[in-house]
Amino acid sequence: MKKVLSFDVDQTLNVAKTPITPEMAELMVRCLDKFELAPISGQKYEQFLAQIYEPMKAAGMTDAQAKKLHFFVTQGRRYYVYDDKKKDWKLVYKYDLTDVQVKEMTQALEQAAKELGYWVDLTNGDEVIENRLSQVTYSALGQKAGSKEKYAWDPDHKKREAIAKRSKELMPQYEYEVAGTTSINVTLPGTNKKFGMEKLLKYLKVTMDEVLYIGDMTQPGGNDYPVVEMGFETITVRDWQETANVLRGILAVI
Ligand SMILES: [Mg+2]
Repeated sequence: MKKVLSFDVDQTLNVAKTPITPEMAELMVRCLDKFELAPISGQKYEQFLAQIYEPMKAAGMTDAQAKKLHFFVTQGRRYYVYDDKKKDWKLVYKYDLTDVQVKEMTQALEQAAKELGYWVDLTNGDEVIENRLSQVTYSALGQKAGSKEKYAWDPDHKKREAIAKRSKELMPQYEYEVAGTTSINVTLPGTNKKFGMEKLLKYLKVTMDEVLYIGDMTQPGGNDYPVVEMGFETITVRDWQETANVLRGILAVI
């Protein structure tokens, strides 16, 4: 008997980086009467609110229902639940980087980019290297650069692959992942969904059999694969429309 439906977010519940549709929000609200819902993604807390919570609220989710929503933010390195008395979200735990780790990651990226001649000095007060609490992110042209400019900077990933490789030589204890158009994410080893799913089992007090996981990247190398490897029952979907069909199917039989 399943008690928890856990989801990847990008491409599983939404079109990547956008709010879920009203149709998806309504289906998820209906599921809250039967299950705990636990989305898990590399995204930040603010994006969980904008992409999932706000649309579900707009679809008529009550405070009592919202209490059954569990947000595993930045792959579960932060966990938030809804406090119906305060009518606000509450941080249950966080595994943020230490100041020393942030400093070492920042130093490695800066030194590597400067050695390779790719460092761009920003004059608009924007930051090239941002502390996102559970990861450090290098954005070659800053956070505010236009998308056309960003795309033109490193279309074949060569600059960032070189910076990532050099950073790894300087600080081999961290993981460097080329992402987006100008970014490199630096994390601690093992910051994938396995970390968050272990916490889900512990904090929701359920066994693996009681959880159904839905994701779009369940193939080896995909960011949902660690969940499959752990042994969770998993449904692979192509996009949010397929997830919506799965949820309709589940709601029809229970
Ligand atoms: Mg995905």
